[in-house]
Amino acid sequence: MIMQGKKGLIVGVANNRSIAYGIAKECVNEGADVILTYQNDKLKPRVEKVAKELEVKNIYPLDVSKPQELKALKESIEKDYGKIDFLVHSIAFAPREALDGEFINTSKDAFNIAMEISVYSLIDLVRTIEPVLNDGASVVTLTYLGSSRYIPHYNVMGVAKAALEASVRYLAVDLGKRGIRINALSAGPIKTLAASGIGDFNEILKYNEKNSPLRKNVTISDVGKSGMYLLSELSSGVTGEIHYIDSGYNIMGMPLYEK
Ligand code: NAD
Repeated sequence: MIMQGKKGLIVGVANNRSIAYGIAKECVNEGADVILTYQNDKLKPRVEKVAKELEVKNIYPLDVSKPQELKALKESIEKDYGKIDFLVHSIAFAPREALDGEFINTSKDAFNIAMEISVYSLIDLVRTIEPVLNDGASVVTLTYLGSSRYIPHYNVMGVAKAALEASVRYLAVDLGKRGIRINALSAGPIKTLAASGIGDFNEILKYNEKNSPLRKNVTISDVGKSGMYLLSELSSGVTGEIHYIDSGYNIMGMPLYEK
């Protein structure tokens, strides 16, 4: 029970296929008390279902583009839980048309939306929640290899993930004053709601499965276990890092071929 006695906020559960759900489940299995949010009324019933399964006491609304909801979330946590020990940011968004076709055609609007929802939200969330984080708390965000390599159709989201990873390094220094750690998990491709917006995603999954050292795609449970490691004392001393869980796709110099 590595997470026994720990309380944490996990932002980014849309349903039971979400990476955030994988992390929440592993944390709960190890004894954590988890707080969830839902983006809007459409997703609320699905998050309620997850909350019931994981015996989560409270879920709160949070659309990161609405500052009043973020402020209300911090106040609710303070009132209902006091201080918490961990925070997970597992959200990203870019308009669908920016995730297909050529990167050169990215519009200014799509660029700004991707950066606001996928990058600025981390800074805003961490700054707002920081007063209710215990000293020594741990923060985790989710990134992808498209930050540093060309991945077909990932386009503006690759640029956003590069900015997200840089933000992790800068936040690590600010939060380090209170012994608070922050790291990014770089997950391999997984079929989720967000991933369904990326062009040819099934082809990416097939390629990854064939060309990774473990010859398989990762699952939300694989990501969940690494998330739990980064949120727990097991990783004390680890901060500002990008932790890869992608069957090593990033280490392959050229595609595998097997007879
Ligand atoms: P998902 O669709 O299950 O989760 C995305 C979440 O973002 C949803 O819960 C959605 O409600 C939330 N979100 C979007 N806009 C929001 C807003 N304005 N306010 C609040 N919440 C908002 O998909 P996922 O794949 O689990 O994505 C979670 C994270 O993992 C993302 O950062 C994604 O880029 C990253 N990631 C995904 C993969 C993959 O292949 N699925 C790989 C690496 C990293």
